[in-house]
Amino acid sequence: MVSKKRFIAGASCPQCQEQDSIMLYNEAGVEVMECVACGYRKRQTDEATQQQAGEGEVIGVFKPD
Ligand SMILES: [Zn+2]
Repeated sequence: MVSKKRFIAGASCPQCQEQDSIMLYNEAGVEVMECVACGYRKRQTDEATQQQAGEGEVIGVFKPD
C-alpha cells in the first residue's frame, strides 16, 4: 500500500494558520494530517471525516499528542 498524500483545499493549519498547507495521508491505517508549512502533524480520528466533508468544523479542536 502506497500512502497517497493529498492536500485539503481550503483547510488552514491550526498551528501556523497557513492555508492550503494541510495534506492528508494514510500511515499504518491511520489518517494523518500534516502541515507542510510548519510541520504540524496530527493523527486523524473519526472527527476528521466531518472536517473533510463538512464546512465550518473547527480545525483547532485537535489535541496534541
Ligand atoms: Zn502549519
